[in-house]
Amino acid sequence: MSIQRVHNFNPGPGALPLSVLEEAARDLVCHPDSGMSIMEMSHRSDEWIARQDALTASLRRVLGVPEDMDILYLQGGASLQFAMVPLNLLAKGEAADFVVTGTWAVNAVKEARKVGRVAFEAASSAATGFDRIPEGLSLNAESRYLHYTSNNTIFGTAFSAPPDGGGKPLVCDASSDILSKPFDFGGHDLVYAGAQKNMGPAGVTIVFVRRGLLGRVGADVPTMLAYKTHAEKDSAYNTPPVWSMYIVGLVLGWVEAQGGLEAIEALNKAKAALIYDAIDASGGFFVGTVQRGSRSRMNVTFRLGSEELEELFLSEAGEAGFAGLRGHRSVGGCRASLYNALPMESARALVDFMGDFRRRRG
Ligand SMILES: *Cc1c(COP(=O)(O)O)cnc(C)c1O
Repeated sequence: MSIQRVHNFNPGPGALPLSVLEEAARDLVCHPDSGMSIMEMSHRSDEWIARQDALTASLRRVLGVPEDMDILYLQGGASLQFAMVPLNLLAKGEAADFVVTGTWAVNAVKEARKVGRVAFEAASSAATGFDRIPEGLSLNAESRYLHYTSNNTIFGTAFSAPPDGGGKPLVCDASSDILSKPFDFGGHDLVYAGAQKNMGPAGVTIVFVRRGLLGRVGADVPTMLAYKTHAEKDSAYNTPPVWSMYIVGLVLGWVEAQGGLEAIEALNKAKAALIYDAIDASGGFFVGTVQRGSRSRMNVTFRLGSEELEELFLSEAGEAGFAGLRGHRSVGGCRASLYNALPMESARALVDFMGDFRRRRG
């Protein structure tokens, strides 16, 4: 491709592997096996059904999804899951515990309450500005599950291991770290993730849910909001987001070609270590915003000495070919999102740029 691609540190939608984009571009107008674009294909055609089955098989293989979990392809983003999870796993008035680690967890609590379910805050790091993963949970006996956000995209924190729900089933919003490392579904009843951070383009949200849970509640749940509807119809009760799903399939193929999730994790660890080391070695010119033990490998958040200096850094970075480094609008500062498809060379280039900027402006 002749157009110069930037170093893409966008927080979501985020970078996709170049080879995936090139393959998708080739197939955009006409997939060679089909004589048409995947976008133009009936979701009820044998060809699409075979493609979707292959996608599901890839997800099971790459992520190790247990056989007793269904995989659903939904729309509405992780944000719709904040309501769908309690609607489907809790009867009216039933309760769940939440670990409140940032904006997305706060929204999950809000939506659970909106749909008439009880949401307990088992732990929260709100008091310290969500700069850490809180320690110690006060679980409520009547809660049916514990909800947590494995990686906090906005604040830059991540769980290094799932929280201990004391035997309670876990529900995980894994939107921003799914596919970034091996994942243990053990102990989890439900895991959900929007695709647009590590898995593919926006438009599809993937839900992994224990089949046994699907019939428990839901008579009063609108058809489209009931997992059972989608599970019984293989996610084709209505038209699924076929193009986004197709790209997720290409991304999974790319992950396997990289050596699978162990190899991807090693690369992600190395990228994050580079950036954190640059921050830590800057003599306070760059300052990380979260406690060391809670640092995310996906979203590295940091500040400079003043907002003016941050603006200068962001604008010079933009001119130098680095995109997406501005912190979330709710928190300010800077954030480097290091999703799977961000190459090591982009992380190295950012470290060089940070060092250069510090020498000129420090
Ligand atoms: C991006 C994100 C969301 C919101 O996703 P939408 O697809 O915009 O609804 C929720 N949770 C986490 C952890 C995220 O990173």
